[in-house]
Parts: sequence; structure tokens; C-alpha cells
Amino acid sequence: MPKTRILAVVNQKGGVGKTTTSINLGTALAAIGRKVLIVDFDAQGNASTGLGVGVRERETTSFDVVVDDVPLENATMPTLVPGLDIVPGDENLAGVETALADDPKRSFKLRNALRSYRDRAGDDAYDIILIDCPPSLSSLTVNAMTAADSLLVPLQCEFLAMEGLSQLLRTVQIVKNGLNPDLTIQGIILTMFDRRNRLSAEVEQEAREKLDGKIYVYDTVIPRNVKLSEAPGYGKPALLYDHKCTGSEAYIRLASELLHREKELVVA
Ligand code: ADP
Ligand code: MG
Repeated sequence: MPKTRILAVVNQKGGVGKTTTSINLGTALAAIGRKVLIVDFDAQGNASTGLGVGVRERETTSFDVVVDDVPLENATMPTLVPGLDIVPGDENLAGVETALADDPKRSFKLRNALRSYRDRAGDDAYDIILIDCPPSLSSLTVNAMTAADSLLVPLQCEFLAMEGLSQLLRTVQIVKNGLNPDLTIQGIILTMFDRRNRLSAEVEQEAREKLDGKIYVYDTVIPRNVKLSEAPGYGKPALLYDHKCTGSEAYIRLASELLHREKELVVA
């Protein structure tokens, strides 16, 4: 078994909690003692900003890794969180599709970068690499799915939460049929759960019933918590902004649930 587990945080819908999950799950995993890397793979660069890496500090980015074959080690930066590094992303990522248009290996660029790193780094390698994907099923997301061992799918506890999931699963199947036959879905993470809103409970129940026996749905539910949305404005993960808030606590529980389940993977 290779040491590093590569997990892509995917959902083609925007605003469902991919970046919030990448930042705060990554922080929680680091707090539990894992060595973690976040790859910011969204042109909005929100994971980088939310971890305090300003636009001007982003010298080498995930664009350089996938387009110019810069080795992963040359693109990583430390964050405020001990044990958590980031490969920043920026607006250049919007041009990846065009930059790689003529490259027959375009879908394998991130995979080759991460897996050759994993082979090179040996025991010093990160335990977990989280890829924060853009809100689309673009070539960036296909690259991330091709690179990943498994997927984490945040699902927002709101109206039409499940809409789009079948399209996502079809894309996963296509990737499994060709680019990455070993790809699995690690689990669905219910986010922005509002206990005062009956709809949240209905979405949770529907997701758990419909996906039962097919895709794991984490027991841990991420609550809607204003601290989670405020923290990025201070360039900090929630755990460094308010470690006692319900959002921080939920991401710590999620990290521990994820580690406990690591070996029982559900195949898509
Ligand atoms: P995505 O990366 O899927 O587009 P984000 O993680 O950026 O989604 O979340 C979208 C917005 O919702 C952001 O403003 C974020 O701060 C906020 N948000 C995410 N999760 C929560 C939560 N559990 N509680 C409150 N606000 C949240
Ligand atoms: Mg995002």
C-alpha cells in the first residue's frame, strides 16, 4: 500500500462546501497528527486565500505542476497550521484546458505529478493529499478524479441537494471505465445542516435512504455555522479562528470518522 492517500473533494455544484471541507478537514487531520497537503485546483483560489496565502505569495501554483511539469515539492508552501501544506491555485487554472488541448496525456497530468511524488517521497510523503476541485466537471475535475484514490463528495442540505449527483456519478463511472479503474467514492459529506430548518433533516433522511448500501454517507454532519464562513476572511481555518465552534468540532469528528473508515472503502 502506498503511504499517501489521495482524495479529491468534488461536486460540480458551486457553494456546497468543497473548499470549506478541504480547508477544515485538512486542518483537523493535521491536528490529529497526519501530514496533509491541500492542492488548490480551483481558479478562484479560495482554499489558498482561506489558508492565508495571498495572491502575491503564490509563486508556484497547481497550474505550473500540471502544465509545466513542475515537481510537486517545488510548488508546496507551509500554512499557519503545523503539518498542513498547500499547493496554491490561482486564476491561471482557468487556462489549463486550453494549455493542454494538444497533449494526449492531458487527463493524467495531476495523476503523474502526485503519484511520482508519492513514489519519490517514500516514508516522508504526505499521509493525505486533498484536492479542492472547481465547481464543474471540466478537465480539471477529470484530472483530479484520475489522480485520486477516492472521492469525497460534499452535499449541501438544501433544496435540490441530490440533483446533479447522478450526473456526478456518471462522470465517475466514465473515469473508472477508462482513466482510473481503481477510483472509489470514499463518502458523501452532508454540509450546511440547519437544525432549525425541517428541509435539512429531510435532505439528510433522503440521502441516507437513497444511498444506503451504495455509497457511504458519513455519520458526521457539518452544521451551518457562521464561524466556518467568517474564518476564511481572516485567512485562517475555523480551528484557528474558534476551535470550540460547532463547525470546528464537526470537522474534527469527520476527520476521526474518515481515519477510522480508511480501510473499508466503498466502491463506486
Ligand atoms: P464550494 O467550494 O463548494 O464552492 P464553499 O466551501 O466555498 O463551497 O462554501 C460556499 C460558501 O458557504 C462560502 O461562503 C462558505 O464560507 C460558506 N459555507 C460553507 N460551509 C458552511 C457551513 N457549514 N456553515 C456556514 N457557511 C458555510
Ligand atoms: Mg470552492
